[in-house]
Amino acid sequence: MEPVIIIGAGPSGLAAAYELSKNNVPVVVIERLSQVGGLSRTIHRNKTRFDVGPHRFFTQNREIHQLWVDILKDDLLSVPRLTRIFYNNKFFYYPLVPMNALFGIGPIAAVGIVSSYLSTQIQQKFSPQKTVSFEDWVVAQFGRRLFEIFFKTYTEKVWGIPCTQIGADWAGQRIKGLSLWTAVMNSVFKPKSGIIKTLVEEFVFPRLGAGMFYELMGKHAEQNGGKFLLNKNVTGFRHEGSKVRSVLMQNEEGKTEEIEGSAFLFSSPLSDGVIGFDPAPPAEIIEAARRLRYRSHIGVDLEVEGNPFPDNWIYVHAKEVNLARVANYRNFSKEMASNDSKTPITVEYFTFKGDHIWNRQDEELIELAKEELLKMNILQPEQVVDSFIVRNEKAYPVIEIGYEKNLEALKQYIARFDNLQPIGRSGMFKYNNMDHAIMTGLLAARNILGNSYDVWSVNIDADYHEAGDALQERQTQL
Ligand SMILES: Cc1cc2nc3c(=O)[nH]c(=O)nc-3n(C[C@H](O)[C@H](O)[C@H](O)COP(=O)(O)OP(=O)(O)OC[C@H]3O[C@@H](n4cnc5c(N)ncnc54)[C@H](O)[C@@H]3O)c2cc1C
Repeated sequence: MEPVIIIGAGPSGLAAAYELSKNNVPVVVIERLSQVGGLSRTIHRNKTRFDVGPHRFFTQNREIHQLWVDILKDDLLSVPRLTRIFYNNKFFYYPLVPMNALFGIGPIAAVGIVSSYLSTQIQQKFSPQKTVSFEDWVVAQFGRRLFEIFFKTYTEKVWGIPCTQIGADWAGQRIKGLSLWTAVMNSVFKPKSGIIKTLVEEFVFPRLGAGMFYELMGKHAEQNGGKFLLNKNVTGFRHEGSKVRSVLMQNEEGKTEEIEGSAFLFSSPLSDGVIGFDPAPPAEIIEAARRLRYRSHIGVDLEVEGNPFPDNWIYVHAKEVNLARVANYRNFSKEMASNDSKTPITVEYFTFKGDHIWNRQDEELIELAKEELLKMNILQPEQVVDSFIVRNEKAYPVIEIGYEKNLEALKQYIARFDNLQPIGRSGMFKYNNMDHAIMTGLLAARNILGNSYDVWSVNIDADYHEAGDALQERQTQL
């Protein structure tokens, strides 16, 4: 029997390989990098471990949670949560704590926030505006002043486009149901539901970094007969009628190889996949693929003396610096540090490939990160004992106004192949977290095993009872 070919050994591809190999279906996973885990991998550097930015394990889906428990067993830690926003040279607890926010912002600004919220509510009542962009959506829920303080700068750092160009449906997906009123009420009157409280105050995490879970999942698949081809970059799909027959891949020396399969799952970017079809798709499909944009991520990974801050990560809303977030892995698990006196951190920049941040040399980026941390009074440059750069292209699908039309065209095109399924975040061009990505891999595998799940509905159908604080959580879990 020809194997199922899975492109990408990230959470979605690994979940599919795990599920299929467990059911005795032969699988071959093709991965461009030299290790598994995708964006959720852990990079081992001497005795220190770095993730690709903070990767909190968070799900409302019981099956996924159980999978984490079953695979990690005692290696699944419960981690206390502390995250703050850095704005105006001050730290604000996130989720917001009213007195801390009030003292930080000051009473005059607080009155400004409330009056801006009330005037938006009155305006909405008497002349409702159409909600098209992320900005429209947030202003309608929170008022313009709060949008400017807590949403605009960080969101624009992350996405690289004005909030007026980001689709309102992104906000709807991430923070639906929340308004200034519910946010204040939830932080004053703590939600009674145990699960929401737990999500705010602690989360689960693998002892040796996010990637530990995915390395173990890959081992299970290998033990069940799954094959992994690392350092191979898939460049195209050959198809005939309604079937994909094979994929083309390049090895490290640039030599092209071809592998045939019975069914194909891909978690590599949807647009790359479609552009690599042979015979080529119609010109309008290639054009639609080119119009879907992805944002890239640069992690400046620093090993530093001491522990510079108590948070798991800090959101940096300050305009004065380019960095958007800084993660501290010692505060996820002390075993990610090489010893008690050192801390691994990642300073995170969000970029478009080829822009003024992306084009900087590694050394320049390291200097930039040191300068910006000094400016924020978080770290002295001489505390840095080791540093390196991790670049991830196409880390975030950009949910900009009008993207749906292009995505729909690609979905329709892909649907003509009955043995091909896109999975995961980049493959489905969905702003997915790990739990969603895993779920798409599991369901796509189950479709091969004879079921008929609508994998595209995972984001919508997943059991996220997003209310209260848990809602605020998801909003900035980028
Ligand atoms: C900075 C950051 C922080 C995040 N924080 C969280 C968090 O706190 N909690 C959470 O749940 N999620 C978080 N996420 C999201 C999480 O990383 C993703 O949802 C998850 O990794 C998606 O899994 P995936 O399998 O769909 O894709 P990926 O992880 O992107 O894996 C795809 C794999 O395919 C490979 N590939 C791509 N193209 C090719 C090709 N042509 N040939 C061969 N291989 C290829 C890639 O190298 C990669 O290994 C975060 C993401 C980022 C970037």
